Amino acid sequence: MSIDTLDRESLGSLLSTQRAAYEDLRSRGLALDITRGKPSPAQLDLSRELLSLPGDGDYRSADGTDTRNYGGLEGLVELREIFSELLGVPVAQLLAQGNSSLTLMHDTLVWALLHGFPESSRPWAAEETVRFLCPVPGYDRHFTLLESFGIEMIPVDMREDGPDLDQVAGLVATDPTIKGMWLVPTYANPTGGVTSPEVAARLMAMPAAAPDFRLFWDNAYAVHHLSDEESAASDVLSVAAAGGHPDRVLIFASTSKITYAGAGVAFFGSSPANVAWFKSHLKFASIGPDKVNQLRHVRLFRDADGVRALMRRHRDLLAPKFDVVDEVLRDRLGPHDVATWTRPTGGYFVSLDVVDGTAARVVELAKGVGVSLTPAGASFPYGKDPRDRNIRIAPSFPSVDDVRAAMEVLATCVLLAAAEKALA
Ligand code: PMP
Repeated sequence: MSIDTLDRESLGSLLSTQRAAYEDLRSRGLALDITRGKPSPAQLDLSRELLSLPGDGDYRSADGTDTRNYGGLEGLVELREIFSELLGVPVAQLLAQGNSSLTLMHDTLVWALLHGFPESSRPWAAEETVRFLCPVPGYDRHFTLLESFGIEMIPVDMREDGPDLDQVAGLVATDPTIKGMWLVPTYANPTGGVTSPEVAARLMAMPAAAPDFRLFWDNAYAVHHLSDEESAASDVLSVAAAGGHPDRVLIFASTSKITYAGAGVAFFGSSPANVAWFKSHLKFASIGPDKVNQLRHVRLFRDADGVRALMRRHRDLLAPKFDVVDEVLRDRLGPHDVATWTRPTGGYFVSLDVVDGTAARVVELAKGVGVSLTPAGASFPYGKDPRDRNIRIAPSFPSVDDVRAAMEVLATCVLLAAAEKALA
C-alpha cells in the first residue's frame, strides 16, 4: 500500500518492521560497494588475450609503420576505421589517442580556456563568466572537471529521450556566457536515457547566443547494450551540418568499458575544422599516442563486428545484475510507492529517486550496515541535488549475489528513511 495513504499507526508499524530488518542487517557484517561503474573481473577476463597481444614480433601496423616508434599523431588508421563505423564519424575526422576520454575532454577544455575555438573572440578564460549546461542527473566527473576550472554550471533536466529541449534552447539562445553543454547521448550516466534523433536534430539546429557554443557529446556507452534493442550511434556530425552548425559537436568515446578500464584507447571526433584545431594544440603535448596499445586492440577486435561480439559477452555478464536491481526494487519498494527508478537498455547505471529529502539519509543508513553507495547529490553540479532524492546504482562490479544483497539493504534503507520522514 502506498506510504502516502498510511495512517500514523500503520506508519509506525512500517517503521518498526524496517528498523528490525535494519538491525538484522547490521549483525551480518556486510562489506559491499556499488559506488562506481567499474567492469567486473569476469568482464576484464573477456579481453584476456590483450595481455599477450600484439605478441612477440608483431609491431607493424597495416601501412607498415613500426608502432614501437614515435609518430602518427592521429592514431592507427585501422583502429580508427573500426570505431568510425561504431561511432558514426568519418575516419579522417576521428583520432585514436591515449587511455582516457576524460583526459581528452579535460584537454579540450584547457585549450578552449587558453586559446578559444577558431570563432571565439577571445579565450574562454578571458571571459568574465563561462557557463555550461549540465543535464541532471549526470556524470559526476563532468561536473567536478568544470568546477575545477571555475566554469559555472546550470542544471537542465535529463529525460528518457535526451535533455529537456525547452530549457536548453531558451537558455542557449539568450545567454552568451553559455559556451558549452555536456551530453551522454547513449545510455546516459546515470539515467540510461538515449537522446532521440529528433532531440539531437534540434540540439544541432537551435540558435546559440555564443558563436563558439560547443556540445560535448560523450558517447562513452555507444555500444554498451543490455537488450536486443541496440541503439545505433547517430551520424551526429551530419545532423550538426544539416542544422547549420557543423562545428557545434565534439565527440568523445573510449574502450574503457569494452576492454580494460584505464588501459584502453580513447577517441576524439568532430568536424574537419575542430579536428584541425584539436591537433594544432595536441601536437605540442604529444609526438604520438601509444600505438602498441592501439595495435593490440586492433588484433583483439579485428573489425567492428568483433567489438559487437565482445559487447554481447559483456551484456551476458551485466544484464543479470541489472535484472536483479529491478527485481529487488520492484518487490520491495513497488508496493509502498516510495521510489521510481530507471530500467536502462544499456550502459552501466540505474538512477533511483527516493522520497524527497531522504537520499542522503538512505546513503548514511546503508553505510551503517556496510554498503557503500555513491554519495547522494554526486550526479548533480556542486554535489547538490536540490530535492535530495537521487541515488546512482552501479551494479557492474559485484557478483550477482552481492548485487542482490546490496539491493536488499538499499530497499530496507529507502523504506526506513521514508517512514522516518513521514512520521517526523
Ligand atoms: N564518460 C562517461 C559518461 C563515463 O561514465 C566515464 C566513466 N566510466 C567516462 C567518460 C570515463 O571514460 P575514460 O575511462 O575514457 O576516461
